[in-house]
Amino acid sequence: MHFTRGSAVVSRSLATRSRFATSASAGKYRSLSTTAILRQDHSSAQDVPSSIAPKRSKYRTFFRVLGGATLVSIAGGIGIFVYVTQKDRHPGSQLPYDPEKKTIVILGSGWGATSLLKTLDTSEYNVVMISPKNYFLFTPLLPSVAVGTLSPKAILQPTRYLARHKARAVTVIEAEAKEIDPFNKTVTFEDDTEIKGEVSHTTISYDYLVHAVGAEVQTFGIPGVQEKACFMKELSDAEIMQRRFKDCIESAAFPGQDSTEIDRLLHIVIVGGGPTGIEVSGEIHDFLEDDLKAWYPELAGRIRISLVEALPSVLPMFSKQLIEYTESTFKESKIEILTKTMVKEVKDKSVVLQMPDKSIQEVPCGMVVWAGGNKGRKITQDLMAQYPNVQTNRRGLTVDDQLRLAGADGSIFAIGDCTSTSYAPTAQVASQQGAYLARVFAQMAKKNTLQAKLNQLEQSEAAVTDTVEKANRKPEIETTRKLIANVKVRPFHYSHQGSLAYIGSDKAIADLPFANGNIASAGVATFLFWRSAYLSTLFSLRNRTLVANDWIITKIFGRDLSRD
Ligand code: FAD
Ligand code: NAD
Repeated sequence: MHFTRGSAVVSRSLATRSRFATSASAGKYRSLSTTAILRQDHSSAQDVPSSIAPKRSKYRTFFRVLGGATLVSIAGGIGIFVYVTQKDRHPGSQLPYDPEKKTIVILGSGWGATSLLKTLDTSEYNVVMISPKNYFLFTPLLPSVAVGTLSPKAILQPTRYLARHKARAVTVIEAEAKEIDPFNKTVTFEDDTEIKGEVSHTTISYDYLVHAVGAEVQTFGIPGVQEKACFMKELSDAEIMQRRFKDCIESAAFPGQDSTEIDRLLHIVIVGGGPTGIEVSGEIHDFLEDDLKAWYPELAGRIRISLVEALPSVLPMFSKQLIEYTESTFKESKIEILTKTMVKEVKDKSVVLQMPDKSIQEVPCGMVVWAGGNKGRKITQDLMAQYPNVQTNRRGLTVDDQLRLAGADGSIFAIGDCTSTSYAPTAQVASQQGAYLARVFAQMAKKNTLQAKLNQLEQSEAAVTDTVEKANRKPEIETTRKLIANVKVRPFHYSHQGSLAYIGSDKAIADLPFANGNIASAGVATFLFWRSAYLSTLFSLRNRTLVANDWIITKIFGRDLSRD
């Protein structure tokens, strides 16, 4: 296993850069002296030494080609950018609803559902997408929104932007699915928003249902968590956390505040040493270092970040070296990690901890961020209850290797965090499952078309009385039968692309699959890789532009301190 420390990578790249600088300046001097000789000898061209003349043309040609290539690249880049943005902004006409086609109802607009919609050939189906959020949320960058590095809009993609570009019109409904009736094949859903029309509750039928509703935050019923802690799951959670954090700081800055109270207000407790808790801790630390130190110099030094984890170590899904690297980076960043420590209660002004020696301590704090993991949503639990003998895994829905709901008749599929599989509940898994399901639907459509053709051929063959004509039709029927038999749906296979996490201080960690093993990498170079990986994973050019723009703005002007 190979392990790269950020500092090593940086110093090596600096060394390389200085080598480049040296050779570049040498080149500059060489070309200057050449120019001088050429100028001097301009009056008598026949005296130009033969060794210099070809050099001049070589450099000129090189720079001319370089300049031309640069111009072509810039013009091409602008052209592609304009073309893609114009295409995005002006969707063309779409096929209408077709009663002859089967209807797929997709529940959710997250990683699984959006990946499915993106890949699905809608010319073969009518598609209805139901979700309480009319957008896709790019969760990996949510902690960056919580501290204001990114603006909320940068990581949202309205579902209609995608739906309007599909071959057939997709019905997008902003509503929460309340009930699934798998026996009558219906879904009942409700508009849960502030403003409702005359109709806000209705039921529709499906031929196929894709259950991709994700999961909700697991609180284990610990007193005070639901009411008093901030979460990091939805966009609103990130906005709430940002407001509370700034509120803590402004309250600590209130004139006459007692010193103990300042320390309490400035103590931030993050619960959960999984990737969410680690990334939130890193982002809060960055906000503190990059901005608060400058604008609240009297308070910044007093801010304390504690990360509480019940298990013996943080980030159990990462390799040992990366765990140690994260722990040492947090130590340098003065983020205290409390392992083997369990949160027992969250109070208004404190958090109750069970320490490794089982003693109970009440620790004063201004804010608690809860990142304690996932649990199934009510709609998922209700669906499981319809198949009490099969759906017994409390972690989520059991599916077969083609992602069909176990126990159901093959018309219900489930993907992403709402399922319980051998894979971790990650965006990578959910999006690969969504794309896989789109291919399954394509195979099913192909099979249906061939079956319809076969039925037609068989019927017309049955109607023919002439034996020669009958025999003539047999080969086509046989070929169609073979084609149908060849349409096979392969099982879902997950291809792990690696695990990445941001740990603050412009450092990230990465466990990347390589050959039959793993490459573990950490540091500043990995942080740049983390950024470029997520920038390219964003679903639209619009989001890529917004995120890149926010990163630049934050670097130049810092984060916004205002609290709305
Ligand atoms: P989601 O993406 O959660 O989507 C569920 C959808 O269902 C949502 O649109 C929701 O509004 C909708 N919904 C909810 N209830 C209903 C209902 N009753 N009816 C209809 N629709 C409903 N994974 C990674 O691989 N890499 C990362 O870097 C990473 N970073 C993360 C950072 C954070 C802060 C968090 C919270 C998670 C992160 N994850 C990451 C995990 C990843 O976000 C999830 O695994 C992924 O979102 C799961 O996709 P999903 O489609 O199953 O669910
Ligand atoms: P998680 O389940 O990975 O971690 C939750 C942690 O909270 C656990 O380690 C658990 O021991 C701890 N915990 C629970 N109750 C506690 C208590 N009372 N006191 C102290 N500690 C407690 O949750 P997550 O970090 O939100 O991640 C959820 C999923 O999303 C995971 O599959 C993860 O891989 C994925 N994710 C991935 C990334 C990434 O790849 N960068 C980022 C975020 C999330």
